Amino acid sequence: MVHIKTNEEIALVRESSLLVSATLSEVASFLKPGMTTHQIDVFVDKFIRDHGAIPSFKGYGGFPFSACISVNDAVVHGFPNNQEIRSGDIISVDVGVFKNGFHGDSAYTFAVGEISAEIAKLLTVTRESLYRGIEKAVAGNRTGDIANTIQDYTEKQHGYGVVRELVGHGLGRNLHEDPQVPNFGKKGSGAKLKENTVIAIEPMINLGTKDVFYDKDGWTVRTKDGKASAHYEHTVAVKKNKAEILSSFDAIMANEKKNPELFSDY
Ligand code: MG
Ligand code: MG
Repeated sequence: MVHIKTNEEIALVRESSLLVSATLSEVASFLKPGMTTHQIDVFVDKFIRDHGAIPSFKGYGGFPFSACISVNDAVVHGFPNNQEIRSGDIISVDVGVFKNGFHGDSAYTFAVGEISAEIAKLLTVTRESLYRGIEKAVAGNRTGDIANTIQDYTEKQHGYGVVRELVGHGLGRNLHEDPQVPNFGKKGSGAKLKENTVIAIEPMINLGTKDVFYDKDGWTVRTKDGKASAHYEHTVAVKKNKAEILSSFDAIMANEKKNPELFSDY
């Protein structure tokens, strides 16, 4: 069942989503080679709690951490650990916040140090595919219109692999609500979008094969061919003419540009 939100409820989702964005923009300011993803997780947990909120992911379905941190061939749901981040790594940081009874959910993939042109292009195209998908999140369209736009741009136009096993989702009082929002599918298929439905759109795009497997930790999703994967996510409200993006990459991108340890030329 899809929960249609009131404007007041959407304002609360925006507040939670912007706290996610603020968290990720802090990460953009200090991320550098030599750190561990565990250090990022500790920061994320403290920053969210210091702002009077709860990390949505901690304990969700048994997930043991506050951030999903997925490095290189890890697609999503990566476990933070004590391995040092190296120049050339790409790090997807996915964060959820629960505040005032509502969740916000957003993710950003950072490139540390020097990365190849091939990886830089994967990031550019994946981020662009998110915004192209968001353009389709208007009342009267269907989830398949978002899905097809993302798939067409990433898979057909750029030859990347679109992950089939994981999808975007509605959210609000619950972290995952209906409808499902895949990144692949036919135009005109799927649930019809109504005004004030809130969804997380989150393309998970692989440099090589679309095929993935679960790591032995039971959570981390990895590409089968070991090639890199990118992930960007916004929480958005469906509106009549133009979707409202409730999270924001503005401060993240500004801090990414200011941080000399991050690649930001995309
Ligand atoms: Mg997320
Ligand atoms: Mg999500």
